[in-house]
Amino acid sequence: MHALLVEDDDRMAQALGTALAQRGHTVRRVARAQDALRHTREAEFVLLDLGLPDLDGIELLRRLRTVCGVPLIVVTARCEERDVVQGLRAGADDYVVKPFRMAELMARIDTVRRRTDARADRDAPAAAAVRRGDVEVDLAGRTVTVAGDRVRLTRREFDVLALLAARPDEVHSRAEILDRIWGDAFLAASRSLDVHVAGIRAKTGRSGIVRTVRGYGYQLGGER
Ligand code: CA
Repeated sequence: MHALLVEDDDRMAQALGTALAQRGHTVRRVARAQDALRHTREAEFVLLDLGLPDLDGIELLRRLRTVCGVPLIVVTARCEERDVVQGLRAGADDYVVKPFRMAELMARIDTVRRRTDARADRDAPAAAAVRRGDVEVDLAGRTVTVAGDRVRLTRREFDVLALLAARPDEVHSRAEILDRIWGDAFLAASRSLDVHVAGIRAKTGRSGIVRTVRGYGYQLGGER
C-alpha cells in the first residue's frame, strides 16, 4: 500500500518510514500541510501528525476529508480527551498518542485498513471535479469557476460546497455538515452554516447551486 506520512519531525518520520517500508508499504513523507494536500490523491492511507508548521492538523484533517476517503490515523503528542474527540469527529479512523509502540501502531493500521476497505469506495469523491451547469467545483485544486471565471469563496464556503459536491446525490444533514467542517455537530442551531450557504449562492451568482432541504439540510443543486 502507498502511505502518505505527514510529519514535520525528521527523526519521527524516519522511524515511521522505516517501519512502514519493512511491512512492504511505499511511503511519501511530507512535512507541511500544503504538501499533504497536493499528494492525497495517490495515498492509500494517511498517517497525520497534528502539530505542523503551516496549518493546524485538525484543520488539515477536515480539508483532507473533503477530498479523500482513505484510512487516516492521527499520530500526535496531543493527548487531551478533547483533542482525541476533535480528531475523531473531524474524520480520523483512529488516534494514536506519542510516544507509541511501533508494533501497536502497525497493528492499528492493519485494523483500520480492514475496517475501511468497504467504506473507502463509498466515501471517495466520484470525480476530481464536479460540474453543474456552468459551475465547476474542482475538489482537488480547491477552486470554483462560473462560466470559466474563478470565484473567490472563503475557505469554509469552499469546504461546504466541496462536501456537497463530493457526493452530489446525497442530502447532507445540518449536523453532518457542521460536524465535518466546523467539528461540532452541536452548533446545529447556529446560523453559521446558513450564512456560508448564502455566501456561496451570492458569490457564484447561481442560487440553485445549493439546494435547501427544509428542516433537514442541504444538497448540491443546479443542472447536470
Ligand atoms: Ca509535529
